[in-house]
Amino acid sequence: MAEALIKFTDVSFSYSADSPQEFEALTGINLEIEAGEFVAVLGHNGSGKSTLAKHINALLVPTAGNVVVAGIDTRDFDRVWEIRQNVGMVFQNPDNQLVATTVEEDVAFGPENLGIPTPEIHRRVDEALELVGMNEFRLRSPHQLSGGQKQRVAIAGMIAMRPRCIVLDEPTAMLDPVGRQEVMDTVLKLNRQEGITIVLITHAMEEAILADRIVVMEEGRVVLTGVPRAVFSQVETLTQLRLDVPQVTALANRLRQRGYDQIPNNILTIEEMVNVLCQLE
Ligand code: ADP
Ligand code: MG
Repeated sequence: MAEALIKFTDVSFSYSADSPQEFEALTGINLEIEAGEFVAVLGHNGSGKSTLAKHINALLVPTAGNVVVAGIDTRDFDRVWEIRQNVGMVFQNPDNQLVATTVEEDVAFGPENLGIPTPEIHRRVDEALELVGMNEFRLRSPHQLSGGQKQRVAIAGMIAMRPRCIVLDEPTAMLDPVGRQEVMDTVLKLNRQEGITIVLITHAMEEAILADRIVVMEEGRVVLTGVPRAVFSQVETLTQLRLDVPQVTALANRLRQRGYDQIPNNILTIEEMVNVLCQLE
């Protein structure tokens, strides 16, 4: 089998280099993410999600163990830009990510830094803005945009670098429901249509169910991984980890507790719930 696009082997990380044993933000992480996969990362605040994300594009390197991305060890300092070109990062706050005076200049910023010839940059900017549905806003100033639009421009800026993977660290946390939907539609399109590998850190269970696989973190460790349906059927474990299940999954569980045991314990969507309820006597 081909090597995974992202591979963590026994990765530990401590922010305090002087006393690494004192507090580890990551402990013994083993994780492989295949090219084209969509992985959601869940976990309570402080469980190490952002620290994990920053290891994928070499913003941080392990204290012990190693991370290999597209065949490159992230400690290989000479190839750090190659890694960053392969892995785009999108963060929570849309206002901190846009730097230029117009949308199109912003999207061009990454490829310009890669030294790509101007006609090619134009092509990439057109393509990226089209993909995130922001073409008509190309001459606007980023601060005239809504939160969801800003995040889509930030994503376009990454796409213009032609990465194989995009890591999004709670990209919808500061957005209203419309903005969240816009960003999630874009993320799904990048994955399903363009084949881009997605690592999505999120608190929203309704977003996590869209992933191929869920990774749950707690105190710097990966404590649970599996397809969404398998993960969310473990309601008690998730509750211990201080995580929710999707609302409709919680409802199904309460109905089961009331004796409706025809209702399966792994319902994920409203559609599925409707189908099950309509078949009850
Ligand atoms: P999450 O994203 O899941 O909320 P983080 O990866 O941000 O978790 O944090 C994991 C742990 O590392 C937390 O205990 C946090 O306080 C600590 N931490 C995060 N960033 C730093 C930092 N820059 N310096 C020291 N400790 C940090
Ligand atoms: Mg975080």
